[in-house]
Amino acid sequence: MKKNELFRKLPGVDRIFNIIMKKQKYKDIPRKIITDCIRETIDTYRNKILIAGDNGFSVEENIIVLDVERLITKKWSNSFKRVINATGTVLHTNLGRAPLSAEIKERFWDVVSNYSNLEIDLTTGTRGSRYSHVESLLCDLTGAEAALVVNNNAGAVLLVLSALASGREVIISRGQLVEIGGSFRIPEVMAQSGARLVEVGTTNRTHLKDYENFINENTGALLKVHTSNYKICGFTKVVESRELVSLGKKYKIPVIEDLGSGSMIDFSKYGLTKEPTVIESVKAGVDVVTFSGDKLLGGPQAGIVLGKKEYIEVIKKHPLNRALRIDKMTLAALEFTLRLYLDENKAVEKIPVLKMLTAPLSKLEEKAKLLFKELEIFTPLHAKIEIVSEFSMVGGGAYPVEKLPTKAVILKPIKFTVTELDQMLRELDIPIITRISDDCMVFDVRTMNINDFSKIRTSLEKIFFRKS
Ligand SMILES: *Cc1c(COP(=O)(O)O)cnc(C)c1O
Repeated sequence: MKKNELFRKLPGVDRIFNIIMKKQKYKDIPRKIITDCIRETIDTYRNKILIAGDNGFSVEENIIVLDVERLITKKWSNSFKRVINATGTVLHTNLGRAPLSAEIKERFWDVVSNYSNLEIDLTTGTRGSRYSHVESLLCDLTGAEAALVVNNNAGAVLLVLSALASGREVIISRGQLVEIGGSFRIPEVMAQSGARLVEVGTTNRTHLKDYENFINENTGALLKVHTSNYKICGFTKVVESRELVSLGKKYKIPVIEDLGSGSMIDFSKYGLTKEPTVIESVKAGVDVVTFSGDKLLGGPQAGIVLGKKEYIEVIKKHPLNRALRIDKMTLAALEFTLRLYLDENKAVEKIPVLKMLTAPLSKLEEKAKLLFKELEIFTPLHAKIEIVSEFSMVGGGAYPVEKLPTKAVILKPIKFTVTELDQMLRELDIPIITRISDDCMVFDVRTMNINDFSKIRTSLEKIFFRKS
């Protein structure tokens, strides 16, 4: 067909609009969105005709209508939505790190959908502090003297360095100059804070005397940073917090520790490698400890700062603290998550991150069998499916080399490539994010919710059986 004829065949906006508006499901969508989508679709067709020229391109009204409907759905539905994490990576930064506990849902909604006592002291009726809602809880849980919370841990580190060491030198081991994903780099944060970085020791070995040799009247702090997302193995030496603390005491210099993940429980009890806990750092006498709210703690994005009262008071008064202020929704989610830690058994049961990390292999196996049962209907015509032993990752810059034995269902589609199916799964109403390995899609059940299994089957039915 000739170009001109194709152009003439393109329907008008009004015509498509009338067809679309006959469908009940578009009644509540603003008309402007609908006409914009129609215009955009017709424009796309116009460009396609221009590019394709006179050959082999057809214009069919019903296909155009379908394209418009697809565009309306895309524009009208939320961009930010839940996904199913089938990757097995528990703290997946791209997937929102820690999912919050359902246990806090009611209390959370009650506080944030009403007025609250965010900054009023209900006993005296005078202005209160937003930190009061978590400070004593954090102190009870960790043994610290004082605490505050800010937007995230990157902010916490910047704030602490700015408040305690701006214009002075901060000594850190060369093995701890970390970069966390998303451009958090210790040397750059340090520069931003106005403190001067003094790196000591070597990449693999740093001794106490390395720190001591560089202490002078201009030293503002000794900094220890958890090498969250990498591990130095072999011939290594790290100075323990306890030793740094005694050095700091000798010269009256504060010791700051950025724990990164900062776990409240000892994961070695549950079969993972021993990692330093927040409680241990406080006990060792570290003056200021910082860590994230949404890593191993399993709460919302936040930066938690705790330690000696004399330093926390100075940090609270720094102007950056106001700029990094935690918001009330985060504060509510954080308080209720922390409350679950008052009973460790409850925490492990109710906080999703802890539950997923400590799930016994037998439970994972049962789960994999349930998923397999749902997906079995697709064999052998549409996919090859089996249960395999795999490994999950902790993620979120914690336990970088730990491989957690898990069970997964692997699926190899027959009529599509794995890449094609992966794309289709990502474009579902509830997207499913899997891991691809050896030309199979891996559904690691560790990070999946049993309640989603039937949804996954329905979604795959639509794809494989082409139902809509
Ligand atoms: C993750 C991490 C940070 C950054 O924490 P956010 O909460 O992501 O801002 C800082 N330091 C270390 C050691 C970390 O692991």
